[in-house]
Amino acid sequence: MEIPEINKDRLLRDLNAVSRIGLGEGGSVTRLVFSVHELRSRQLLVHLMNQAGLDVRVDAAGNIFGRLAGAREGPAVLAGSHLDSVVQGGRYDGPVGVIGALEAVRAIKESGVPVPAPLESVCFVGEESSRFGFSTLGSSLVAGDVTMDDFANAVDAGGNRLEDVLSSLGIYRENLDSLKRDPETVKAYLELHIEQGPVLESKKKKIGVVTAIAAPSRFRVVFRGQADHSGTTPMEMRKDALVAAGHLITYIDEVCREHAATEKGRVVGTVGAVKVEPGVINAIPGRAEMQVDVRSITSGSKRKVAGLIKKRARRIARERGVKVDLMTIRDEEPVAMHPGVIALIHALCEERGVPFEVMPSGAGHDAMQMAKITPTGMIFIPSVNGVSHNPTEWTDPEDICLGTQLLVEALLRAAHAEI
Ligand SMILES: [Zn+2]
Repeated sequence: MEIPEINKDRLLRDLNAVSRIGLGEGGSVTRLVFSVHELRSRQLLVHLMNQAGLDVRVDAAGNIFGRLAGAREGPAVLAGSHLDSVVQGGRYDGPVGVIGALEAVRAIKESGVPVPAPLESVCFVGEESSRFGFSTLGSSLVAGDVTMDDFANAVDAGGNRLEDVLSSLGIYRENLDSLKRDPETVKAYLELHIEQGPVLESKKKKIGVVTAIAAPSRFRVVFRGQADHSGTTPMEMRKDALVAAGHLITYIDEVCREHAATEKGRVVGTVGAVKVEPGVINAIPGRAEMQVDVRSITSGSKRKVAGLIKKRARRIARERGVKVDLMTIRDEEPVAMHPGVIALIHALCEERGVPFEVMPSGAGHDAMQMAKITPTGMIFIPSVNGVSHNPTEWTDPEDICLGTQLLVEALLRAAHAEI
């Protein structure tokens, strides 16, 4: 079979165009979900898909599907990722998979090679949790694995509730299911993504064949003490919420380090956001709110550590005379990629003589939602210095082209194969 070749210049040009939307300080990119910039990036994608002659469909949430008909109707092979970003993030986390999938499908269409099944290049809305603390929003809706109750604690820094934003798009409890994609219409899902870690670069490998995705347990811990005068309140009479939070933060670091050394399933834990009230120099903090993120590819290890952290939070509260509230933001299971899709990507790398690494993903991706409804796999390309969620995030253009070229073949093989 003739293998269609991607148009490298067009791929890099379109990626560059996307990275200019939401461009900020030091080359950073900020496209928070449902912001004007994120919306504009999705509009650009719709334009590019139309230009390529794909059949474009946008659902109520803003998920975009650009379809190339197959020789036969039937379930489609999907490939994609997301265009939203973290605050002051980089150029490639997400867009490589979206524009890469678009280029792959475009190249296949132009070549005229026969494709037995339909192909779709996809953009999922709101993969990052930076705005609402809720990740993989669009793909969760497409997979149908989410209810309105799951959005209960999803609120942005301006006090906007995700539920209200969705209802402004016409999405309610009653019609949430209408966004769900019938699994019968999907044959497989592939996602090209930057590694966002240092493994491929340090091992001098070009491609990562992903075996499983570590899923986060996320929860909010709120310590409530007493906001008093910082000068007149004796140390032994204080109920300092931030000191309680500080003890818990130190514990989270310690307990995750311990489990990194002793357990098979490496656990990582982070407190990435702390809000203090009243937040002035001359008042004892009366309220401290922290967001905790715990991940592992082993569900048992993750559960155990999250449980220990919650237990310790209650103990600290008791010992320091403050109150504590624990609220789950999201609790997800680690997700294995499909053995058939792993084997397909693996074989492709071997046949093409591409140095590859079989590896887990420490970061979450839309692929973990899609894996619930269809055979799913991921192709990683190297991140320079392992940096991501940062303006210095970089991947060599040649690596982006190589990953996209492999995606062309992976799509064709998935369309032909019994998976
Ligand atoms: Zn991503």
